[in-house]
Amino acid sequence: MFENLTNKFEEIFSSLKKAASLDENQVDEGLRSIRQALLEADVSLDVTKDFIEKVKPKVMGQEIIRSTSPGDMVVKIVYDELVSLLGESNTDINLNAVPPVPMMLVGLQGSGKTTTTAKLAKYLEKNKKKKIMMVSLDVYRPAAQEQLRSLGEQNDILTLPIIEGQLPADICRRAVSAANLNGAEIILFDTAGRTQIDLQMMSEIKQIESIIKPTEVFLVADSLTGQVAAEVAKEFKNTVNVTGIVLTRADGDARGGAALSMKYVSQVPIKFLGVGEKIENLEVFHPDRIANRILGMGDIVSLVEKAAEDLGEENIKKAEENLKKGQFSMEDYLTQLRQMKKMGGIEGIMSFMPGVSKMKSQMDASGIDEKVISQNEAIILSMTKKERGNPKIIDGSRKKRIANGSGTDAATINKLLKQFKMMSEMMKKMSKGNLKGMSDKGIP
Ligand code: GDP
Repeated sequence: MFENLTNKFEEIFSSLKKAASLDENQVDEGLRSIRQALLEADVSLDVTKDFIEKVKPKVMGQEIIRSTSPGDMVVKIVYDELVSLLGESNTDINLNAVPPVPMMLVGLQGSGKTTTTAKLAKYLEKNKKKKIMMVSLDVYRPAAQEQLRSLGEQNDILTLPIIEGQLPADICRRAVSAANLNGAEIILFDTAGRTQIDLQMMSEIKQIESIIKPTEVFLVADSLTGQVAAEVAKEFKNTVNVTGIVLTRADGDARGGAALSMKYVSQVPIKFLGVGEKIENLEVFHPDRIANRILGMGDIVSLVEKAAEDLGEENIKKAEENLKKGQFSMEDYLTQLRQMKKMGGIEGIMSFMPGVSKMKSQMDASGIDEKVISQNEAIILSMTKKERGNPKIIDGSRKKRIANGSGTDAATINKLLKQFKMMSEMMKKMSKGNLKGMSDKGIP
């Protein structure tokens, strides 16, 4: 997300940073480029104008222009304004109600509402340790109810059994008793959407809101629709008490106009980003980290958090301990590969790193990378415990068996063993106090 904007900002700032001093013309020129970049990212004109008006007096201040590193100070000012535009602090989820705590999702059809309902359920189960029940109120499209039921089944999330022909208001009431019976602590109501905003949809979600009294009303909006997403959010906000936005398809949005216009236009904070079709592709929206990403300063905090997710703290700890001792086992290698995969492969990692957006676009690492990681994982999993403990015993016939098991060939196995040998040698060196030398060479 934001690739285009990041590229532009990197360009603008690199020329500002080069200058030992800045005059008003240079700053003016920089601001004009920022304005252009925002408009090209599909940020609305009002938002762009307001942004520039806020930044301008600050960067035109004499103390900035005369300071020793004026470029850096301009970056800082733009960063602060971006954080403020994106919505400042991220607000937590309101669980303040007698369980089952009701929450609802609203939005246009196709925005990703049903998928997001399941993603949120998984997120709440994992992070808030709550039992969730999902309920579809989309009685107009039978496939919609079925879609949610099947998502529930695939991901082990409770759903309310479907009774054909039942009206939304009755489903709401049935859901509360069923949740009580099943010990569900939160109910997520997925409402019916339309392709466009219409009166019937609005009056229906208003009625549902008054019946279930939700603590949260999430508006699901498609990032790819740019500033339209923000206008849609504003309309919904006029009807129901929208408490947070989930911006979907952020993974495919290189511009980022929806994210940047949303808070300003709709007055509702973005709480989550949908970053893919899989159930785990939901990210908490942190304005400060996003601003860092937009400005090409990377988002290392999110990267590390992502890596730690689900991999099992124990495995990571063990691998770290082994590293310190200069030991590096095949199991550690497997943990490392899985860590990489979790972070979206090289491409995923790079998208979080400072100043690499340009490099990334020049690289054609996509696809290949993820495939190689999965292949290596399959190879290690096809080894016996003994082989993993002591790869030296892997002879020709063992190689053949491993190749069969992993659907590869002996040459690929050799390549992995060679890589592994190189890495374990490197680890040994690092543990002997060469850490500094390594980091100087750019190895983290
Ligand atoms: P609904 O009509 O609003 O309930 O939309 P759905 O949940 O059925 O989603 C429509 C399509 O968008 C599906 O194919 C989803 O897999 C896809 N989708 C939803 N969220 C995301 C996302 O964050 N990223 C991507 N790439 N696809 C998404």
